[in-house]
Amino acid sequence: MFGPPGSGKGTQAKLLKNHLGWPHISTGDMLREHVQAQDELGIEIAAVMKSGQLVGDDLANRLVETRLERPDVEAGLILDGYPRTVQQAAWMSKLLDRKDFRPVVAHLKVDYNKIVARLSGRRVCPQCGALYSLAFNPPRVSELCDNDGSRLMIRDDDREEIIRRRLEAYDRQTLPVLGYIRDAGISYHEVEATDGAPARIAQRICEILPE
Ligand code: AMP
Repeated sequence: MFGPPGSGKGTQAKLLKNHLGWPHISTGDMLREHVQAQDELGIEIAAVMKSGQLVGDDLANRLVETRLERPDVEAGLILDGYPRTVQQAAWMSKLLDRKDFRPVVAHLKVDYNKIVARLSGRRVCPQCGALYSLAFNPPRVSELCDNDGSRLMIRDDDREEIIRRRLEAYDRQTLPVLGYIRDAGISYHEVEATDGAPARIAQRICEILPE
């Protein structure tokens, strides 16, 4: 899943996971697990994430490489938020080649102004990880999780000033990955994701997958 922060990659990855039964591998979620554990690495990562910058390529690559060693990826997997730099893209190609996997890239295209509105209305359950959007998918009871009643949180990096910094990092460091994808001949598809129900967008993504 390729696209700017707030383009709905996480939401789409969760829908696809339910539909295809493939694991959802999100480097952002793996990094947040370290932050929650408050280990030494977690403290370092928290500072980078809060600033809206990217963590180092070596760390992101290592997380994905270790995750791909688990047997549940054999039928297929959904990468969300990775690769985010050209260096990561080259690493990903090497990892997937080794397993004889052929990536299909879904690039979610979303208007940046909508992203700012969307992300600043995003809420997450600290307990079960459910995602809500005040505009499109609000919880039944204001600020409480539908699944377990926990008080919903705003991620530190979903604050407006940080969102703009994340979009800048995306333009500068992640968009060049498209050049890599083109040069490497990787299957690439643009998916219009500014408007429309998440289920409809997920359907568009399913249509680009090989049989
Ligand atoms: P996400 O949940 O995918 O929006 O990621 C949240 C934050 O985690 C990003 O703003 C980065 O600071 C960091 N991050 C996630 N994935 C990567 C990656 N592949 N490379 C570098 N930093 C990442």
